[in-house]
Amino acid sequence: MDKREIFVKMASIEERIGDLYQEIGELKDVIVVLMEENAQLLVENQHLRNRLDKKTTKPAPKQKRSEQVKTEEAKKKVVGEGYDNLARLYAEGFHICNVHFGSLRKEGDCLFCLSFLSGVQK
Ligand SMILES: [Zn+2]
Repeated sequence: MDKREIFVKMASIEERIGDLYQEIGELKDVIVVLMEENAQLLVENQHLRNRLDKKTTKPAPKQKRSEQVKTEEAKKKVVGEGYDNLARLYAEGFHICNVHFGSLRKEGDCLFCLSFLSGVQK
């Protein structure tokens, strides 16, 4: 292989790497959109579960005392799970606050998210 051939081959490899680099960039954008969509669905699902839970545990007129305690415990458990899910989502790098809801956190901690989390914990 003479020097010219080597140079042509290098140029061709460089071009292919450039194309791959661009393709990776495009795929990365697609993945970000999918991850954000997934996070939004998780948060929405959690909110719907919480609402459903509130609705189904509200009318409890003819319950025995032991059943009432059970319902309360189940409710606490669901709220706890909701908190865990949201905390996990935040730890994975997504906003769970109303301001940026479900989008990827790009600049470290978010004060809105943190205050939301500390509010849910109570
Ligand atoms: Zn946030």
